[in-house]
Parts: sequence; structure tokens; C-alpha cells
Amino acid sequence: MSTNTAGTDLDELVRAVEDRNPGEPEFHQAVREVLAPLGPVLERHPEYVKARILERLVEPERQVIFRVPWVDDGGDVHVQRAMRVGFNSALGPYKGGMRFNPDVTLGTIKFLGFEQVFKNALTGLAIGGGKGGADFDPKGRSDDEVMRFCQSLMTELYRHIGPDQDVPAGDAGVAAREIGFLFGQYKRITGTYAAGALTGKGTGWGGAQVRTEATGYGLVYFVREMLAGRYEELDGRTVVVSGAGNVSIYAIEKAQALGATVVGCSDSSGALHDPDGLDLDLIKQLKLTERGHLGAYVERRGGEASFEEGATPWRIPCEIALPCATQNELDEKDAKALVKGGVRVVAEGANMPCTDEAVAVFQDAEDVLYAPGKASNAGGVAVSAFEMEQNASRNGWTFENTDERLQATMKQIHETCRRTAAEHDHEGDYVAGANIAGFLRVADAMLAQGVV
Ligand code: GLU
Repeated sequence: MSTNTAGTDLDELVRAVEDRNPGEPEFHQAVREVLAPLGPVLERHPEYVKARILERLVEPERQVIFRVPWVDDGGDVHVQRAMRVGFNSALGPYKGGMRFNPDVTLGTIKFLGFEQVFKNALTGLAIGGGKGGADFDPKGRSDDEVMRFCQSLMTELYRHIGPDQDVPAGDAGVAAREIGFLFGQYKRITGTYAAGALTGKGTGWGGAQVRTEATGYGLVYFVREMLAGRYEELDGRTVVVSGAGNVSIYAIEKAQALGATVVGCSDSSGALHDPDGLDLDLIKQLKLTERGHLGAYVERRGGEASFEEGATPWRIPCEIALPCATQNELDEKDAKALVKGGVRVVAEGANMPCTDEAVAVFQDAEDVLYAPGKASNAGGVAVSAFEMEQNASRNGWTFENTDERLQATMKQIHETCRRTAAEHDHEGDYVAGANIAGFLRVADAMLAQGVV
């Protein structure tokens, strides 16, 4: 990382972040990635240095941590820890999902919140960055248990959120069911129907069309733009996706609709390979309806399909790889296997799924385009912002109109990253383009709003 002479030493700042936030390696990783291309930017903008924009950016504006007790179906009491981090509100109310996963720590939520600041800035919409979550494992829990947990969580969270303050949505482990329970309790406690306090609601009661599909569809729209830059199309390409959750499923759906053959995906139990192309209806049945494991696919589908227990899908040769599972799921070895297998485009559907070393492999490989999640997976939060817009005007858009606006947003994000990279001597580097463009938008707003 380059050192800046104008007053902010970026290496020193990274070290300070590490010292001040011990035991949060993912947060450190996210900060390192954003700061890496900013040296020359700060040299061009001494006003950012003077106003200590970066030092303020790496410190969340606020962090709330609270206990969530709940009772399971057998009458046993459990205690979970939940949190909500408001990272930056220069561009709008804090906006970002809630993640329910037993691994969730404050460090996880801070890394996600930090990423969200720049991702949301890239959308060009009026949303700041925040994130929340709890170390609750929804897997294997009944609907009633999930409801009681969500109600208990909202009994504290309600006082920290609102349409103009902080607007949570879903993330891993939080989808329509959880948002429904969270919204119901918010409505009950506040005595208001403040639809814009949460996004990802059901389409019959204030939710936006396309929100469910938006992250996966948006990812594929972004890939389409990457390919278009090379005068190529998705039609006829082989694709491998990791994960089998909301992002993956709708990425598969859109990739198939645009003519690609998706030959692999995965879940926490292992990797599925179907050379004939995945049967998405069966995957939806297994993962969304039955909430079970992918392994059952092979028996039900027949043909050439195979499932490897405990494996990742990155040994399956493909031209386009879409990591959509979780942070740091794709390491250097996986990246090398993908490059060897002929990958030409890698775009992140999850947040920070590639390790630093894996990113370096893709960036060093000849002819491989790599897009970071904060650019390529921004479609989800963009449609959340559309949902807020519709809720504020008590209006509802059609599926087609929303999908068109999503496509336009992904195209604009792609163009912003491409142009910004080129303007800063990083031609073709989506990581530098995304981080610089996101930073500039937030930094200008912070500068204009004074030292707050
Ligand atoms: N959790 C999603 C993300 O990582 C969406 C957040 C939202 O819609 O607020 O961007």
C-alpha cells in the first residue's frame, strides 16, 4: 500500500485500525482493500486529509449490542447476542441487512457494514451504510421459534431503526419469513405502519417487486456488462456458482435465462456438479421449500449429476465463476484451480468471498476479469432503496419497471467502476474503480457536512 505524504500514512492507518479493533480480521481485510488504491487520490485531494475523512470513515458512527433471550419449542431458554452497526450516514439513512448465523461477531458485522458504505455509494442512491445480525442459527428451527427470536430481537432493535434513521433488510439467514416477523413486531411496538423501516417485505404488503431476485439478477447483469466490454455474451457460457441460497438461486435463474449453462453450485454440506446444467426447480424445492441439503439432488435428478461431500465447487471447470456463499470461501488454491480450468470472469455475489491471495491470483492472470462484491452484488441493496422510495410515496412499481431500473443501476455501477479505474491509472481494475468511486462520493458528502 502506498504511503501518502500529504498527512495520512495509509499503512499507519491500517495498523491503527488493527490495534483499535483487535480480533476482527475480516474488518481489517475490508479496510485494507478499500484503502489500497487511495494514496494517489488523497494526494489529489488534500482537503480530505485535512478533514480526516479516512480516519472518520473507519470508525463506525454508532454500534449497538444487545441480548436476545428466547424460548424454544421444548421450553428451553436461549440467549443470543445481536448487534446493529450504523457505519456511515453521509449519503442517507444507514442501510444494510441483518445476518443470522452462529458465526456472527461484531467483527463480521463491522466488515459487512464497512463494505456496505461503499457499495451503497456506488448505487448512486440516497443510502448510507449499516449492518446488523445475531449469532442465532435458524437452521433446523421451527417457524414458531424463528418468530419468537425475531420478536425478541425487535423488542430492542425498534428504538434504533426507522425510515429516516436506519433501515435493515435481509442477509444470510434472514429472508422474507424473518423480515415478516421483524416487521410485525416493529409495527406492534411502535403502533405505526412505517413500511420504510425495513426492506425485503412481502410484495403484498409494501415489499418491492424483484427484491427477492435482485442480488442474483443484478450480479448477472453486472457480468453481462463485463462481457460486453469484450464484445462477448452470456449465451453459451459455462457458469459455476457457490452457495444455494437466495443470491445463488437467482443468479442461476438469470444466467440460465440469458443462455448460460450453470454446471455447479454448493451448500454447507458440499458441491454439486451437473454437466447437463442444473435443474433449478429441483434446487428451489430442496433449498427453499424443504430447507434441506443439496445432496438429495443427485438421486432425484439422475443423469450425470454428482455430489462431493464437504467440497467447494471450484474444481469444476467453467468460464464464469460466481462466488455467492460467504466471506473468504474462495482461497488461493481455489483461484488457481479456476484459472487452470479456464475461468475468464469472476464476479462476487457474496460479500468478500475471495481471500486477498485469491484476488491477487485473478488480477495477475492474463485475461481474467474480477469484480468485487461491493460493485457486482449491489443490486440487492439498490432494489431495497427502490422499496424505500415506493414506501415513502405509497406507490408500487411493476416487476418489469423495477427490473429495468435494476438493469440500469448495474450498468451505471459498471460504467462508474470502469471509468473511475481508467481515470486513476487502473485501467480494467474493478477493485480500484469500485473503491475509489465509492470513496469519492462518500468523502465529498462528509466534507460538505462538516466535522460530524
Ligand atoms: N444484505 C444485502 C447486501 O449485502 C442487502 C442489504 C439491503 O437490502 O439493505 O447488500
